[in-house]
Amino acid sequence: MVESTEILIVGGGLVGASLAIALDAAGIAATLVESAPPRADAHPGYDERNLALARATVNGLTALGVWPLAAHEAAPIRRVHVSRAGVFGVTRLAAAEFALDSFGHTLPARALGAALLARLEACTRLTRLAPATVTGLERSGEGWQARLATADGERTLRTRLLVGADGTPSGVRAALGIAATTLDYAQTLFVCTLTPQRALDGCAYERFGDDGPTALLPLPQGRAGLVLSVPATQADAVATLDDAGYLALAQARFGARVGRLTRPGRRHAYAIRGVLAQSLIAPRAVLIGNAAQTLHPVGAQGFNLGLRDALTLAEHVAGAVDPGASDRLAAYAAQRAPDRDGTARASHGLVRLGGLAEPALRPLTSLALLTAAALPPLRRAIARRGMGFRGQPPRAVLERGP
Ligand SMILES: Cc1cc2nc3c(=O)[nH]c(=O)nc-3n(C[C@H](O)[C@H](O)[C@H](O)COP(=O)(O)OP(=O)(O)OC[C@H]3O[C@@H](n4cnc5c(N)ncnc54)[C@H](O)[C@@H]3O)c2cc1C
Repeated sequence: MVESTEILIVGGGLVGASLAIALDAAGIAATLVESAPPRADAHPGYDERNLALARATVNGLTALGVWPLAAHEAAPIRRVHVSRAGVFGVTRLAAAEFALDSFGHTLPARALGAALLARLEACTRLTRLAPATVTGLERSGEGWQARLATADGERTLRTRLLVGADGTPSGVRAALGIAATTLDYAQTLFVCTLTPQRALDGCAYERFGDDGPTALLPLPQGRAGLVLSVPATQADAVATLDDAGYLALAQARFGARVGRLTRPGRRHAYAIRGVLAQSLIAPRAVLIGNAAQTLHPVGAQGFNLGLRDALTLAEHVAGAVDPGASDRLAAYAAQRAPDRDGTARASHGLVRLGGLAEPALRPLTSLALLTAAALPPLRRAIARRGMGFRGQPPRAVLERGP
């Protein structure tokens, strides 16, 4: 038997789950298919990475009713401090200079995942299939037909709009025949939580060095999220360091800025790869989140961008007679382009800026940091974009009055 659904979302990671909630809130019936069981501890994307959530993202999650379920585990980012080892110049930004209480918040992906799962439980129009895996896709009349492997056997679903929210390796992207540019940064990122001697007090630090970027993000109760990137060739050696050796490496990267680093938690490692789909849409199909673009985490923009994909798509299909109509999808892609291109460029630029090891180029890094530090319009632009307000953002992320 072939069943029907208006919109089929493949992948219930942070982005697919957000889209499912946004569609449900807009009164649209959809089906969400996710390979992992619906438990935060079983989900590959709901792990211990600490997400820096832009202000726009916090606004969007608030509009979805997700933020109140997670806020108790979040810490505000009130200041940002960017520097590079071996060069002169620092960029410091404070939310207060823009009359804001914060630029955004830090939240473990595990806590965001748990909040999304709790909010999904309250959806009334959504059909959730998990664990279930889409194993085949083919064009079918005015839509797509998907084959699913579920615990109860095989099912077939027909849909008028197929959404690929299935992450970096995206099988949906491949089935749509959308090519992707991939970039191997040859870096491995280690994340863990620790306790700095001096509490970060709402300051997020980003420090660039020849071996890669290091970030320290504020967390509740004096803890901090350490993100430390190393060349992939050194990853095995770093993975086998004991806690003391690992802290010594982090300390060497950060210097004495926040005092001694202590009490490291469990380390998690990620190989870093960039992927940029060459199109966001295909007939009756759209890619969102990491399936559309996977960025280097140094810019802390992946989920922030993916949520804006999800919210924008929900706004485009809300009230539509045909959610997969080509003019809707074209309008969606056009609205997302400036944000996506600009954020991807900025993210990649940051990696390059951080990696400019050649002594002859170092003054450029200094100049960039000093310029950003000095010019008020540039500071405003950097702050605005960093907070997720680039291009034409979805309405759901815009600031609301008191
Ligand atoms: C170390 C690290 C730090 C980061 N820090 C930040 C940060 O500070 N700020 C930020 O905004 N972003 C950050 N990111 C990026 C962010 O985590 C990702 O952009 C985001 O989690 C992507 O979510 P997604 O839902 O698009 O993809 P995924 O999390 O990959 O989810 C895809 C889902 O699809 C499911 N799936 C795949 N194929 C199928 C199928 N055939 N059938 C059914 N289900 C399927 C998978 O099981 C998976 O759950 C970071 C990333 C890393 C690695």
